[in-house]
Amino acid sequence: MAKEEEQKSQFGIKDLGHKTLLQSDALYQYILETSVYPREHECLKELREMTEKHPRNIIATPADEGQLLSMLLKLMHAKNTLEIGVFTGYSLLSTALALPPDGKILALDINREYYELGLPIIEKAGVGNKIDFREGPALPFLDEMLKDEKNKGSFDFVFVDADKNNYMNYHQRVIELVKVGGLIGYDNTLWAGSVAAPPDAPFMDYIKPLRGFVIELNKYLAQDSRIEICQLPVGDGITLCRRII
Ligand code: SAM
Ligand code: CA
Repeated sequence: MAKEEEQKSQFGIKDLGHKTLLQSDALYQYILETSVYPREHECLKELREMTEKHPRNIIATPADEGQLLSMLLKLMHAKNTLEIGVFTGYSLLSTALALPPDGKILALDINREYYELGLPIIEKAGVGNKIDFREGPALPFLDEMLKDEKNKGSFDFVFVDADKNNYMNYHQRVIELVKVGGLIGYDNTLWAGSVAAPPDAPFMDYIKPLRGFVIELNKYLAQDSRIEICQLPVGDGITLCRRII
């Protein structure tokens, strides 16, 4: 390898012409350390550090994405939100801190134990009163909600971050629950980069079986005339969908 090429590869530098600026892990660390961690609420930091010790910490929302969610919610003046997939609560606490004092979050997860790990920190942050946590599979819960007309169009923001094989099913339901002009965020829509890789690429075991579902969702969202979309390479990819009809 020529010296210049070797240096580029060592520092993860891509040739000019790439339209993404994010060139390396070092650049990602720079974002976290320069712009994210110094502004992170102390309880979010505590929750993040607690979650880092959990064996499944890989599934937690990264801090830069939490910061994005917080900014979006404030810009939208969101008050009533729905979260599907809570884990230890990083995105939930980011949301709760961003909502006004009378804001409400309906939070769904199949596993209450994860939520209870973060709950003392959420309480300490003084925002536990904004959260209505329900344990159980999200799909039947959403179906039940849709039976009541008053739930339709009632959410300003929906964050979907649970079982990827059900994202299409979630979409058909949350599109009715979010208000026209409201926003849905689908998380992990780049699925570790696997969406753009050959099916036999050497990804971790948990990536492969769900890759097809994420690809299917991305295609579907791109042609769904009920929404405008914007897919951002933040975290593992988040697709923002603004309901327009
Ligand atoms: N948003 C979280 C955060 O900020 O750290 C991460 C969520 S994690 C990627 C996915 C969560 O979805 C897990 O806590 C899991 O228990 C939950 N989950 C999986 N299948 C589910 C289902 N069918 N209904 C509700 N929750 C589910
Ligand atoms: Ca996620």
